Amino acid sequence: MDNEWVCITASTGSSQRPVASEDWPGRWDHLRPVLHRPGPMAHEGFTPGTPTEQFLMEQCKVLVVGAGGLGCEILKNLALSGFRDIHVIDMDTVDVSNLNRQFLFRATDVGKSKAETAAEFIMRRVPRCKVTPYFGKIQDKDMAYYAQFNVVICGLDSVEARRWMNATLVQMFDSDSPESLKPLVDGGTEGFRGQARVILPTISSCYECSMEMLTPQTVYPVCTIANTPRLPEHCIEWASTLEWPRAFPEQSLDTDNPEHLQWLFRTASERARRFNIPGVTFSLTQGVVKNIIPAIASTNAVIAAACCNEVFKLATSSGTLLDNYMMYMGNDGVYTHTFEYEKNPNCLVCGQMQLALDVHPMWTLEEWIDRLIADPSISIGKPSLRTPARSLYMQAPRALEEATRPNLAYVLGELLQEGDVVTVTDAALPVSLEIVVHLTESAATAHNKQ
Ligand SMILES: [Zn+2]
Repeated sequence: MDNEWVCITASTGSSQRPVASEDWPGRWDHLRPVLHRPGPMAHEGFTPGTPTEQFLMEQCKVLVVGAGGLGCEILKNLALSGFRDIHVIDMDTVDVSNLNRQFLFRATDVGKSKAETAAEFIMRRVPRCKVTPYFGKIQDKDMAYYAQFNVVICGLDSVEARRWMNATLVQMFDSDSPESLKPLVDGGTEGFRGQARVILPTISSCYECSMEMLTPQTVYPVCTIANTPRLPEHCIEWASTLEWPRAFPEQSLDTDNPEHLQWLFRTASERARRFNIPGVTFSLTQGVVKNIIPAIASTNAVIAAACCNEVFKLATSSGTLLDNYMMYMGNDGVYTHTFEYEKNPNCLVCGQMQLALDVHPMWTLEEWIDRLIADPSISIGKPSLRTPARSLYMQAPRALEEATRPNLAYVLGELLQEGDVVTVTDAALPVSLEIVVHLTESAATAHNKQ
């Protein structure tokens, strides 16, 4: 059977009807009652009538970021809601494991670009809806590219990509030109749970404002993994990131291969014994290296629908927007509520760009880096640090890493002076972070155990 979705619409008769005047308005007739008359729920700025409909159908340009589980749903919903100039970005190719829920793809599409395949499918299925794909990374495109859209909708599984997209749209906003404001609608799911949010860059809270609400990243500093493991996870990370490539230089680690996992478990257990660390188990090994996030098709459908309704309201003003966060909890019955995330004045992206931090002069640089990594409001994994005068510690290139590694053992009182500005860069940070150092003996002395 080719496509259940087509079958469902065929049974209602819609695909047997001749496509009325090139498929429009026939296909989108259901929008007319919403767009042509005011209703008690309509937004106060809503003007019912043809101009609103024409804006939606003829002018509004929407960018969909991600063509995976959420992205397939989003593209389908937008096309059926009257958006006819849709762009989609995705850097991935179709994998056989996607086919159970990413319904725009078929077995013959395995290996092809998701963005291109999804765009072709939508255009075949919804004639007169134009979908322009880009097979690549969001970072390949510049602000001029993003400036062409009226609204951006993200269906991503990567925090890093979300942070980048959010920071780009915040930085693009120029208070002298209202059209530089690009609303961002973001959806995310994890098993039976999901969330949708509307971000009006610089006006409402941005994605980065609430970074510390995310589950902390499990990224451990390489120096800890290599030299001073304290946790069972450190031993497992050591086995998978350092020992595996050393033992099997020709073979990449396959976390779905039970033999590979057994090897990791044995290797991590030996290291844990040597350092007297309890707690390495096979299931922990699996959890650390696989980073499993189950995907449930129906949760994607719920969240994508919520996001697309917000995009529709943004494009037409036909309803009041979500202000600004909706969570959907399906783990324990069904529970959902909305709340307003407030702007965080210390937000690294839309708030102040410098962060004042107390540091203890007797902390080593390594200890300080560990503390920065453990700080959920910063959310970094492998930071590089420098002052205007010198590099303190650089993760790359290798020669610079080696040259700066000895600094890790020095205490901050020797490396820094009061008021120094330390610039922190990290692959996870969408902007570089400037820390104004305040050396004080009263900085918390207990080392944050991770
Ligand atoms: Zn912010």
